[in-house]
Amino acid sequence: MARRKLVYEGKAKILYEGPEPGTLVQYFKDDATAFNAEKKAVIEGKGVLNNRLSEYFMTGLQSIGIPTHFIKRINMREQLIRQVEIIPLEVIVRNFAAGSMAKRLGMEEGTPLPRPIVEFSYKDDKLGDPLVPEEYIIAFGWASQQDMDDIVSLALRVNDWMSGVMYGVGIKLIDFKIEVGRIYDGDFARLLLADEISPDSCRLWDIETGRKLDKDVFRRDLGDLADAYTEVARRLGVLPTNVTHTPTKPTLIN
Ligand code: UDP
Repeated sequence: MARRKLVYEGKAKILYEGPEPGTLVQYFKDDATAFNAEKKAVIEGKGVLNNRLSEYFMTGLQSIGIPTHFIKRINMREQLIRQVEIIPLEVIVRNFAAGSMAKRLGMEEGTPLPRPIVEFSYKDDKLGDPLVPEEYIIAFGWASQQDMDDIVSLALRVNDWMSGVMYGVGIKLIDFKIEVGRIYDGDFARLLLADEISPDSCRLWDIETGRKLDKDVFRRDLGDLADAYTEVARRLGVLPTNVTHTPTKPTLIN
């Protein structure tokens, strides 16, 4: 690999300078973390699966007109993306109660919500990504009222598309997290879907069995995380060829 300038290293991904100004290379690591990085492991193959799955979701969303940072996949672990200014929010969309919402409100996980609910956490690991009301976001200038209206409608469109695609392969989209970035055309700013969409940032339950096919498998020690992600990739038809490849001996052709 040619030497490249590291721009940022996160828990599951690394960003390098891209080949053109305004581009970055996003590298997917095998590292898994949970509970604000208190629990850590290396899950062989996770980065390859998330690179493919995020490509699949981002290109699908682009095909229905949702602007994203994704340009193209470069190899098994890397994709070329547009450099954006990340809005410091985790935008969470929920269809069914789970995780922190179920805990906070004493709800049983899997309870259907009356409608999709969009909520925001302030992205700050030291503070544990606290939930913040929209009023804080606007008052502190992290995003404008117009940005927030656009972010909510973007998040709901992502939810509709993702829910439909997952339903089509027998999976319920419980909730997910997205991040949104800005790019500038002169003085004019546009919002783009950024970061990644993968089983690291979604809750995905098998419709028939309720089997968890997302990062909760790691958070809650429910089995093999790579198996769960491979199942999602297999159902969507995006398995990298070498994951399914079992070497065979040459056969004699008569
Ligand atoms: N999520 C994420 N990154 C975070 C926090 C949450 O990707 O830092 C995702 C999480 O995987 C789930 C959804 O956002 O799909 C809602 O997470 P929740 O608030 O329930 O938090 P958790 O229970 O994961 O702490």
